[in-house]
Formats: sequence, C-alpha cells, structure tokens
Amino acid sequence: MPVQKTEKIWHNGKFINWDDAKLHVLSHVVSYGSGIFEGIRCYETPQGPAIFRLREHMQRLINSGRIYRMELPYSVDEFSSVACELVRLNKMGACYVKPIVVRGYGEVGVNPLNSPIETYMACWNWGAYLGQDALTKGVDVCVSSWTRIAPNTLPAMSKAAANYMNSQLIRMEASLNGFAEGIALDSHGHVSEGSGMNVFLVHDGTLYTPPLATSILPGITRDAVTKLAVDLNIPVKESAIPREMLYIADEVFFVGTAVEVTPIRSVDKIVVGKGVVGPITRQIQQEFFALTSGKAPDRHGWMTPVNAPVVAAR
Ligand code: PMP
Repeated sequence: MPVQKTEKIWHNGKFINWDDAKLHVLSHVVSYGSGIFEGIRCYETPQGPAIFRLREHMQRLINSGRIYRMELPYSVDEFSSVACELVRLNKMGACYVKPIVVRGYGEVGVNPLNSPIETYMACWNWGAYLGQDALTKGVDVCVSSWTRIAPNTLPAMSKAAANYMNSQLIRMEASLNGFAEGIALDSHGHVSEGSGMNVFLVHDGTLYTPPLATSILPGITRDAVTKLAVDLNIPVKESAIPREMLYIADEVFFVGTAVEVTPIRSVDKIVVGKGVVGPITRQIQQEFFALTSGKAPDRHGWMTPVNAPVVAAR
C-alpha cells in the first residue's frame, strides 16, 4: 500500500514539507543500517485523536538510541509534544506516527560516531495492517525457517532499522509461501516473535508469552495485553515456549502497534484450537479496542489526546 502524503514532517526541531524530508545517499544509515525508529498509533476517540502509550514509545526510542550510543537531544516530554503537534498540524484523525533517528551524512566508514544524528517524525493514514478480515477471522501463519537475531549479535531490545533485515526475511518467506506472517524461533529453538509483532498463546486457560531473553522487542502492546489480562483475571505467564506449544495451544494471537490484537487461525497448516477466534483472544481484543477507541474509560492512562495543551505525565 503506497504511503499517503501528509503536509509536514518534523526534522531536528522544525516542521518541513513532506517532500523536503530527504537524505543524502551516502548517509551512514544507508550503508550500515544505523537508524532507530518507533511506530505509534493515534486513534480517533470521542475526545478527538488520541495517541496510544505515547510516552512509553518515546522512552523506548531513547532506549534504542542509548544501546547504540546515540544520545538523542530531546526528552520523552519533548518528543511527545512534537508527536501531538505533528498530528494537529497535519489535521489527522486516526494515523500512524513514526519517529526516525538516523546517523546522517558525515564520515563514510563503519564507525558511526562522527556522523550527525538526524531526528525526524512523520505521520500518515494507516488502516489494519493485515487487513480488516485478519482482525475478525484470524490469519494463517508459519514458523519461519529463519532464526530471530541471536543474543549478543543485534540487540533485539533496540528497535533498530538493521533488525528489520531479519524481519524482512521472515516476512518474505511467509508471504511467498502463502502465509500472512511468520513466527520466528530464537537461536535455542524457542518461540520468539513475528516479523513486527509479539506472540501470545492460550493453553489450559493460561496466557503465555515469550520472555525478553528470547530475542523479542519489548512490545508496548505486549505490555498492555499483559495488564489487560490481569484486569480480566486471566492468568498470564512469561516463559520460554517450545515450538510445538503453537500446535497444541487452544488459542494463538499476535499483538503489536501494527497488528493490534490479531487472532491466528492456523500455524504451519495445523488449525489452532477449534479454528475459530477463541474466547480469551476475543475478550482481550474487545478490551483493547474499547480502550483505544475511547469507548471504555482510560483507566491506565494510556491515551494522550493530541488536542490537550499538555501531554499527560504520570
Ligand atoms: N516485535 C517487533 C520486531 C516489532 O517490530 C514490533 C512493532 N514495533 C513489535 C514486536 C510490537 O511492539 P509494539 O507493541 O510496541 O508495537
């Protein structure tokens, strides 16, 4: 789906025209993948557009940079205010907000430290990632033949551009074989995550999700779903998950900013549970969309209305 232009993109403290947000081809990031980014959803609510877990995303952006020795010149509050202003300026309702920080044009060797840090933020209109049907009917996925990035190689806790070369291999293989997505295993053979989403499964009434040490991104939706499960009195455990748990689970689903809460209908052509969206997936999905649409009260303080003068600080 081609991106739909908006008017302004923020760059190093200023709003510039969409078409002027350009990089030199010799920018460090182009050859060496030295970029970090976030993907954040802004939802339409009765109070106007509101950004989901804005501060948590901006904190993860700063953390991603810290791992790569990129000191970002903006705080969580500053980044959060920019995001609200960007959505307002571009007169967007529901949209996707993407801060991107790269090592820019400077030196051309591998050492990144002498290339300038360029900070951008853009937003645009974005619908359901795997299609609207995916949310209601679920998707068919495979276990990838590609292993997720191993510990102490590319740090999975940093949302770095380079990690997405691994994600692309997972995604291409899945798509070319007729699956909506792939689930990668970590270097020990335990369930890790999808190309751009975390995984949960239900077994005997308990919700399971892989721990941080299995090469996953610390997903903000994953964290939200864990908290919603607690609210709903559904037991939830972080534990290493063997591949075959995916085949005998009662329910499996993806979570993430892009996929939101997407049920999984089959894994490697083995039907999940009864082949219909399971009751726990449905409960979590309903609760998630009730909160993000503003229909349920924002009891966790997760929504930042873009029209409020100050970003909610907790
Ligand atoms: N894993 C990967 C590799 C991702 O790219 C994403 C999307 N950011 C996620 C998990 C889900 O994270 P979040 O819920 O914060 O979007």
